[in-house]
Amino acid sequence: MDFDFDSDQIMFRDSFKRFLDKEITPIVDERDKKGPLTKEEAIGFMKKFQKIGFGWDPQSLKGLMQDFTTFGIFSEELSRVWLSLDLVYTMNFGLTLLLLAPTTMREKLMHRWEEGELISCNAITEPNAGSDHKSMKTTAVLDGNRYIINGSKTWVSNAPITDICLLVAKDEKGNETAFLLDREESPFETRELMKLGLHAGPTGEMFFDECCVPRENNIVEMISAAHSSGRFEEIKKEFPMVADMGIWKLFNVMSPVSAIFCFSRSWMALAAVGVCRAALDASILYAKEREQFGRPIGKTQTIQGMIYEMISLTETSRLLSYRALDLTLKGSGEARLMSSLAKGYASEAAVKVTSNAIQIHGAMGLSVDLPLERYFRDARSWTIPDGTTEIQKLVVGNEALGMSAYI
Ligand SMILES: Cc1cc2nc3c(=O)[nH]c(=O)nc-3n(C[C@H](O)[C@H](O)[C@H](O)COP(=O)(O)OP(=O)(O)OC[C@H]3O[C@@H](n4cnc5c(N)ncnc54)[C@H](O)[C@@H]3O)c2cc1C
Repeated sequence: MDFDFDSDQIMFRDSFKRFLDKEITPIVDERDKKGPLTKEEAIGFMKKFQKIGFGWDPQSLKGLMQDFTTFGIFSEELSRVWLSLDLVYTMNFGLTLLLLAPTTMREKLMHRWEEGELISCNAITEPNAGSDHKSMKTTAVLDGNRYIINGSKTWVSNAPITDICLLVAKDEKGNETAFLLDREESPFETRELMKLGLHAGPTGEMFFDECCVPRENNIVEMISAAHSSGRFEEIKKEFPMVADMGIWKLFNVMSPVSAIFCFSRSWMALAAVGVCRAALDASILYAKEREQFGRPIGKTQTIQGMIYEMISLTETSRLLSYRALDLTLKGSGEARLMSSLAKGYASEAAVKVTSNAIQIHGAMGLSVDLPLERYFRDARSWTIPDGTTEIQKLVVGNEALGMSAYI
C-alpha cells in the first residue's frame, strides 16, 4: 500500500501552495467579509486557475481528466486557504456536460467556455424537497420541440451568478430528468440567500416560470444524440483517457445521481480536510507562542489533548477522503459507502477541529481580525450540502446492511 503522492503530484502541490500564498492568501480575509463574489470576481479567479491548468474549459479538462487525484490535492490546498472559493470553483463541473451539448449551444458558448468565462450551477434542492429530493415538484412538460419548466429551486451554489444550469425536474410521468440550460436562451430569476458561513460563495433561489428549454437540451436526448451523431467518438479522440476511466463503472452499479455523489462527496471531504489543516496549523503556532502563567500554553496537558484530538481527526479524515476518491476513480462498488463515510466524518471533524482552534486561541479565536471564526463558520456550513451528516449515515447504513432507513 502506497500512501505517497507521485513526484508530479508533489510538484503540483508545492507549486500550487506557492501560487495560493501569492495570489489568494493576501486578499482572502478582507474579501470574504464583503460577502458573495460578483460574477466578474468569480470569473477573475477562474481565469487565474485556468492559467495553471485548472479550468473547466475544453483544454484544461484534458489535464483534469488525466489525474483526478491532483484535483483532490487542488481542493484540499485551496480549501486550506478559502473554502468558499473551492465551492464556487468546483460547482462549475456541470460545464463538462457542454462536451455533449447540442452543436448550436456549444458553438454559441464556445468562445466564453474556452476563455474560462462561464459559471455553472447544479439545481436539485427545492423549498419542500431537500434530503428527500425525490419529492421535488419542479416540472418539465414536453411541448413540441421544447420543454416548459415551472417551479423553484433553493440553496443552489453559484445560482445568482450562473450562465449555465444543470437542472433536475420531473417529467409528465413523474420521473426525474435533467437539462442543461443556457440562461440567455432559457431565462430564469434568482434571489441571493445569505448564510452563516461560506460568505463569499453566492447561493440562491431560482424561479422557473414557463421557462422554455429546447428538447435537445434534455440530458437523455443529448446523450442519445451524441451517440447517433458520432459526437461520442469525437470526444473519445479528443479525450482518449476518458473512455478508460474506471469511474464509468459506477454508472453500471448505481443510479447516475449516486455515481455523481461519489465524486462530489469525496471532493467535499477533502475540502473539509483543508479547513482542518488550516485550523490545526494556526493552533500549533499559537500554542507555542502564547504565554500564560509564565510558559507557552502549549506546555499544558489540556492544550496538548486538544491538539491530539485535532491531529487524529484531521489525519483520519484525510485517509478516508483519499481512499474514497481512489475507490470512486476505480469505479469500485464500495465508492458509495466510503464517499458518504468520508463526507460525513470529515465535515463533522472540521466542526470539532475549528472549534478547538477557537478555544486554543481564547478570545482571539472569536476575533474577526483572525480567520479562526471564518474556518468555524465555513466548517459548520459544510455538514449540510450534498447530503446532511444524518443522510450520509443512512447511505452508509444502507450500503452496509442492505436495508434502507430512509422512510
Ligand atoms: C452551503 C450550501 C450549498 C448548497 N448547494 C446546493 C447546490 O449547489 N445545489 C442544490 O441543489 N442544493 C444545494 N444545497 C442544498 C442542500 O443539498 C440541502 O440543504 C440538503 O440536502 C438538506 O436539505 P434541507 O436543507 O432541505 O434539510 P431537510 O432535508 O429539511 O433536513 C432537515 C433536518 O432533518 C434531517 N433529516 C431529513 N431526513 C431525514 C431522515 N430520513 N432521517 C434522519 N434525519 C433526516 C436532516 O439531516 C436535517 O438535520 C446547498 C446547501 C448549503 C447549505
